[in-house]
Amino acid sequence: MSRNASAVQRLYLMEVAFLPLYQIPIVCYLVQTGDGKNILIDSGVPEVIPADSPPFDVAQNVIEQLVLILTHYDFDHAGRHGTFTKAEYVVQRVHHLDGQSNPRSAPTRPEWDQPMERIRLLDGDTELLPGLVLIETSGHVPGHQSVLVRLPKTGAVLLTIDAVPFRGGFTADEQDDGHNPDAEAIRASTRKLLDLVEREHIDLVIFGHDKQQWEALKKAPAYYA
Ligand SMILES: [Zn+2]
Repeated sequence: MSRNASAVQRLYLMEVAFLPLYQIPIVCYLVQTGDGKNILIDSGVPEVIPADSPPFDVAQNVIEQLVLILTHYDFDHAGRHGTFTKAEYVVQRVHHLDGQSNPRSAPTRPEWDQPMERIRLLDGDTELLPGLVLIETSGHVPGHQSVLVRLPKTGAVLLTIDAVPFRGGFTADEQDDGHNPDAEAIRASTRKLLDLVEREHIDLVIFGHDKQQWEALKKAPAYYA
């Protein structure tokens, strides 16, 4: 099978911080295409951690000129967006609009509220380039997006991000702890991803903050090809 030079060739997993209190890794992903484009998925925690957050161990940050996929504006995902002053930002329109008024996105606003000519707003599922598909998975927040990466050797890899932060939650009827007003949306997005895994025969599903799984995965400078 011949592949377009612009198609995805590699997937790097990077731990950028760790939250000891909950024992969860904070992670970013980097996708590289055959023609040398670097596409970053999320940017990790900010230099200054919000005062109401428990402390993080910060490992490293990522600074390059890139296309940047913004899965959502929570501070453990959007904390360094503002560093990429020339990057194109790719985000769901619903999430970007929600961020304008949702207090939850206010702490990272200086990071993501960039000139509109650099922000690409998506309306639902979108194939960004051959081998890289963004999947709208509202629930965790409105307009959250997960990422499907099709690699030449590994095959399809699904990055659920926070639509499904832990492997234990990847079932059709889970994730309702009785406290979440968007439990229905979370369930719908979880089922959407379960259907996708079945339809596309996806062998590798990487959950957003699963320490146990993370320890067993290949991290940069190793990569998935
Ligand atoms: Zn998160």
